[in-house]
Amino acid sequence: MQDQRLKDFLKEFIISDSQLHEVYKRFTTEIQNGLSLATRKQADIKCYMTYIQDLPTGDEKGNYLALDLGGTNFRVLHVSLKGHHEAEIESKVFVVDKELMTGHGTQLFDHIANCLAEFVNEYSLNNQHLPLGFTFSFPCVQLGLTKALLVRWTKGFNCAGSVQEDVGRLLKEAIARRGDLEINVMAILNDTTGTLMSCAHRNPECRIGVIVGTGCNACYVERVENAELLESEYKVDKTHIIVNTEWGAFGESGKLEFVRTDYDRTIDKASLNVGSQLLEKMISGMYLGELVRLVLADAISENLIFSRTSDKQSLINTLRENVCCFEARFISEIENDNFPDFQQTRTILKELFAMEKASVEDCQKLRYICECISRRAANLVAVGISSLINRIAEPHVVVGVDGSVYRLHPHFDAYMRETMRKLVNPKITFDLMLSEDGSGRGAALVAAVASKN
Ligand code: BGC
Ligand code: MG
Repeated sequence: MQDQRLKDFLKEFIISDSQLHEVYKRFTTEIQNGLSLATRKQADIKCYMTYIQDLPTGDEKGNYLALDLGGTNFRVLHVSLKGHHEAEIESKVFVVDKELMTGHGTQLFDHIANCLAEFVNEYSLNNQHLPLGFTFSFPCVQLGLTKALLVRWTKGFNCAGSVQEDVGRLLKEAIARRGDLEINVMAILNDTTGTLMSCAHRNPECRIGVIVGTGCNACYVERVENAELLESEYKVDKTHIIVNTEWGAFGESGKLEFVRTDYDRTIDKASLNVGSQLLEKMISGMYLGELVRLVLADAISENLIFSRTSDKQSLINTLRENVCCFEARFISEIENDNFPDFQQTRTILKELFAMEKASVEDCQKLRYICECISRRAANLVAVGISSLINRIAEPHVVVGVDGSVYRLHPHFDAYMRETMRKLVNPKITFDLMLSEDGSGRGAALVAAVASKN
């Protein structure tokens, strides 16, 4: 892409090396602030305790149920841990519609219990008293493995009557309201924790779990002496604990303003959680497509792209009037496309604008816009992971990663690694591994490890 005017227009999305190092520095301080008792109140990154202090050995055995709430889909799973690092999983996806996501919490939890019942009946699993791991992918203050107070909803959820409530209790009460299920809720965990556990099950050098999906977050293995919030009884027999950083909240006290753009501010203002999760809003799948939508509309009206199209105004109107019409998956498809036929890009343009004939030049420009936005996202994820790797400071650190953006985007992994090489201490080697079903296998492993203690 050679067009200098478009390049200038997108400059604010390109994070320079000096900005990158500044974000890194601020991020690293914020993690430390979240861990320290004296500073955690003001810290953007809260570093919640998970009460999970053991990684799996690979020998875990048994049958478990798992629930996965908080991504694109709600799922119920049956996981058989087989020992020898192996697991078998059956699962079913259930729809959680918009009304449930923004209605009353009781209705949401009733729906969860109903889906669980349907699953258990379909797979003939009732009467087995199966232990259940609940992957609940929202910030929670944990008071133990099965007690988790919801701090706030994020992403597309905003249910009344649930903030500050114990989601373990909400689930158990919904199960009790049905009266026909025998389920033992053994653990509540975050999806990042599930990812870390699931990857550690296969690779014992895994220390970090990351999600780049609908939302974005990471957890990592911390030494108990650094976890100031952790009660001393948890420091007697164990040396480590998994910390759920909730790094998506970074920026809420202004520390990202020097890299945020007006587009980021527009996205925030239109969101369900204004002023919250500002780093997440620059990275995750729920917002990436929206960023492209807004940028593209302005680029068209500035005559920087599709300038020879006869009815430019209708393209602009389509983009401005249809919130979420530019899906995050379009970005992956466009960045995966091949010069010069740009087949997928043309399909998307047809779907979006009924555009019959786009020039090669316009396709290249559109790809450039997508690239700037996804590269910035990958850079910011890389900052967070690098900071955690340097903090852990073991000679080799494996990072488990999951989520639709990481999984589906053709270059996200490469963008991340490129930036990580600039930030990770050169004495440390690292690897990124794709997680295999963290929310299922990981939840079962947490339940399994918990029942050992
Ligand atoms: C939530 C995290 C979660 C992440 C990825 C964020 O919005 O706050 O708890 O891990 O999304 O699902
Ligand atoms: Mg998920």
